[in-house]
Amino acid sequence: MPNTTVPCQYRTGKTLGSGTYAIVKEAIHIKTGKYYACKVINKKLMEGREHMVRNEIAVLKRISSGNPNVVTLHDYFETSHNLYLCFDLCTGGELFDRICAKGNYYEADAAALVRTILTAVSYIHAAGIVHRDLKPENLLFRTPAEDADIMIADFGLSRIMEEEKLSLLTEICGTPGYMAPEIFLKTGHSKPVDVWAMGVVTYFLLAGYTPFDRDTPKAEMEAIIAGDYKFEPEEYWANVSPTARDFVRACLTIDPERRPTAQGALEHKWLAASTPHFVPDP
Ligand code: ADP
Ligand code: MG
Repeated sequence: MPNTTVPCQYRTGKTLGSGTYAIVKEAIHIKTGKYYACKVINKKLMEGREHMVRNEIAVLKRISSGNPNVVTLHDYFETSHNLYLCFDLCTGGELFDRICAKGNYYEADAAALVRTILTAVSYIHAAGIVHRDLKPENLLFRTPAEDADIMIADFGLSRIMEEEKLSLLTEICGTPGYMAPEIFLKTGHSKPVDVWAMGVVTYFLLAGYTPFDRDTPKAEMEAIIAGDYKFEPEEYWANVSPTARDFVRACLTIDPERRPTAQGALEHKWLAASTPHFVPDP
């Protein structure tokens, strides 16, 4: 892996987004004129754990080119203050914004997206990696086209960040909405947390809002731990089939040991090869 100390091979452009730990900027590789998304992570956030971060980056680099729906890490370098990770540039925006613009997804379109994302999740899991931060802000479209490929971004580093995340949660992070019960209970946070998050994402796709929305992060956490959600208000769920609801219910199984694996979730009948349009009773 190239490990130059000066990131002078790129010219940075506009800011594409920012998350909890990083700013992501458009970057042009000067020699080739190719565009990338460059994630700039301040080293202060990982004090004492740089070694773990580098290991994780190596893993990320190795696996990220193996699945068409995982953003590829192309380059990595650092300065004394920052780490720079250069990924495929996704120009189609976040799934989050598309859901908000549409209100919600048609069930068959939602099923197609969920199937693609879960296939990539299953691939990541088979490689021994847990994403831990699946949510519509981290699912990006490769191009602005309506039928653009969906890409999983922002994974691999979250294991190292997990502790901070819990303590930051109530302060700056905002919503814990996609986190599985076992994360709050501190009883484990491995592969099943990604399947839980996919349950929340699916609910959001179908209804246009998330299942555990509450007035405060604390109330939200309590609702998650209790698995307290409903397919309500009814007007938002009238066009959603029982099979889709059953899929969400399976992913939102409180006990991680009883929750389906990513592969198991893919075998659910909602994701079976052709999902017919559900026509509700008149
Ligand atoms: P964080 O760990 O801080 O959440 P992310 O990797 O999620 O960082 O990036 C933050 C935001 O930057 C994303 O939500 C997205 O809007 C944008 N972004 C990240 N990666 C890319 C990419 N490869 N192409 C385009 N935009 C990106
Ligand atoms: Mg993110």
